[in-house]
Amino acid sequence: CGIVGYTGKDRCVDVLLDGLRHLEYRGYDSAGLALQTPRGIETIKEAGQLSRLVAVVGSHNGRYDEAVSGIGHTRWATHGRPNQVNAHPHTGYGGRVAVVHNGIIENFAELREELERRGRRFVSETDTEVIAHLVEERLEAGDKLREAVAAAMRCLEGAFAIAVISSEEPGTIVAARKQSPLVVGLGENENYVASAIPALLGRTRRFLVVENGELVTITADSVELTSLGGERIEREVLEVDWDA
Ligand code: GLU
Repeated sequence: CGIVGYTGKDRCVDVLLDGLRHLEYRGYDSAGLALQTPRGIETIKEAGQLSRLVAVVGSHNGRYDEAVSGIGHTRWATHGRPNQVNAHPHTGYGGRVAVVHNGIIENFAELREELERRGRRFVSETDTEVIAHLVEERLEAGDKLREAVAAAMRCLEGAFAIAVISSEEPGTIVAARKQSPLVVGLGENENYVASAIPALLGRTRRFLVVENGELVTITADSVELTSLGGERIEREVLEVDWDA
């Protein structure tokens, strides 16, 4: 339902929670974060209102202060009950990847069956979890994160915007879309992705709109928009002068 991603020098947790707060008008049933910490990817998720996630994060006393990047999500359940296990982000069981997703993966049942046949174990009832396993399989086969996400996208039918992080590439976020909206927020030594511009208006006024079938790879000091096949795409910067 709502997606935010941040890579940069500020306190990632605060940026993500603030972004999610600005997407609250959309309604949601659970919320979660995945953070790139010195210990690897750590995921925190809760059923219910964002305030519950905020309280849990707060109770961890600065545990996430050193996170260099992260992704956040508010969920509006379509596949699987609105509980903690089904809340996003979803991870492959190797803990190498975390995924947030808006939309619906129409062919998730077939994909899940194939993945299970190849030995992947699922923990949630969501359509989203197949994405984490598809990406993780490709990472295990040696792909870089962007290639792995592109390969996963080729398997996915339906409407989606996704943001993905991998423990092998701290500081990098790869996001992609088909139908569901996705924007990049541009900063100085920090960059963002979000499902909607209002999530980021407190942080930046400069955006790139990601089009259908495109991927974007961001780090604190780079933004690369590419096609599914990996060709670079140029996009004019959108300067936003309205307020949410
Ligand atoms: N289909 C996914 C789920 O049910 C994502 C829903 C959403 O867009 O929030 O978990």
